[in-house]
Amino acid sequence: MASPSHRRSLRKRRTIVVASAALAATGLGAVAFVMNANAGAVDLAHQSLPAKDGWAASGSGTTGGSQADSAHVYTVSTRAQLVKALGSSGNSTAKIIQIKGTIDANTDDAGKKLTCATYASGTGYSLAAYLKAFDPATYGTSKLPSGTQETARAAAQAKQAKNIVFKVPANTTIVGVPGTKAGLTGASLQVKDVDNVIIRNLTLTATEDCFPQWDPTDGSLGEWNSNYDSVTLRGATHVWADHNSFSDSPFFDKSETTYFGRKYQIHDGALDITNGSDLVTVERNQFTNHDKTMLIGSSDTDSVGKLRVSIHHNVWKGITQRAPLARIGQIHLYNNVYDTASLNGYEPKYSLDSRAKAQVVAEYNSWTLPSGAKVAKLLSGDGTGSVAGSGNLVNGTATDLVAAYNAANSKKLKTTVNWTPALTAGLQTSAKNLPTELATTTGAGVLTD
Ligand code: CA
Ligand code: CA
Repeated sequence: MASPSHRRSLRKRRTIVVASAALAATGLGAVAFVMNANAGAVDLAHQSLPAKDGWAASGSGTTGGSQADSAHVYTVSTRAQLVKALGSSGNSTAKIIQIKGTIDANTDDAGKKLTCATYASGTGYSLAAYLKAFDPATYGTSKLPSGTQETARAAAQAKQAKNIVFKVPANTTIVGVPGTKAGLTGASLQVKDVDNVIIRNLTLTATEDCFPQWDPTDGSLGEWNSNYDSVTLRGATHVWADHNSFSDSPFFDKSETTYFGRKYQIHDGALDITNGSDLVTVERNQFTNHDKTMLIGSSDTDSVGKLRVSIHHNVWKGITQRAPLARIGQIHLYNNVYDTASLNGYEPKYSLDSRAKAQVVAEYNSWTLPSGAKVAKLLSGDGTGSVAGSGNLVNGTATDLVAAYNAANSKKLKTTVNWTPALTAGLQTSAKNLPTELATTTGAGVLTD
């Protein structure tokens, strides 16, 4: 009788054969096949980023926690277990954290649900008092809120942050257990000043700030700003984000209240890559139902020489903007699928913004536009960013997006870049079949052991 592990290896082999047949049918090259064979050789939790798979494969590559000994392989299904498995942020022992089912970040150590009111309690904060204190009619519009209610808001926000922000240490893999609808809700994974992290097969939803801050100086009308991205990379290097599903679901921006004439925004980014982060591969994720989706570089003075990011085979659907907003870095955007029909109130503004001298190569991506939508609106820029690359399709037709944008705008995108992508394993030189292919091969829940 076959042992369980023998059965497992048989199943793996079958998966590889099927995959290679499918790849042959779609005309993919040998590189993609070898990648798949490697991926099948070890279980999901112990896999590393394949060779040459984007910027995160640079140098020592990205192995996450794959080298963990058996004492550092954890399976967690509560917030408290996750916190314990992560350990201190300075601990760099290789570790694998397998998430089973959905963990609600807004719960206490005993698993009890925590609400915004719980976090506010004891701080003296109330939204009504905050709105009264900083009403532009009396407080003006020239300075950020300060005083009793702002101090109270910040204290309440800090209480929520302590609960929902999970600091990911170096040499860590966080992976969803297949077949368990694995993920985090209400959480913010923070990868800060550490190297070598893998985040895979997770559904990441409802990352919400209970305590947005009013900033009357943000833009001409002021903005309510929130603090948390579902995943935040700050000063992080060698990060592989693969097969995750990001969404604001179930609470969408269209349901947000308006105060001071501006939307009370409880969401920030889905996956933000800032503060000198470098060598990142963002692959086969689904981004849906979100406004400010992916920021690369937090300001025009974020680190020169870093912010190198590969973004491939992702699906962007129901996204308002920043898919991504790119600054400074060398960014390779290929084989992505964009569906720009509005969804759940998320109205598209643009897909890709290249600014602050960003060096973007965008090639073999596929856009689907609703009738009447303008190609010139798919891009954005400040007149210093570049977008090179070809092979992009709009509704199945080869289209020069940059030419369309530049014909309609005075701050033109530059069409040359200072680099040539080399870490491009899996690159497909036709975007034609991507909408069909990626519909079933991206996001959380499609990987198996
Ligand atoms: Ca913001
Ligand atoms: Ca952010």
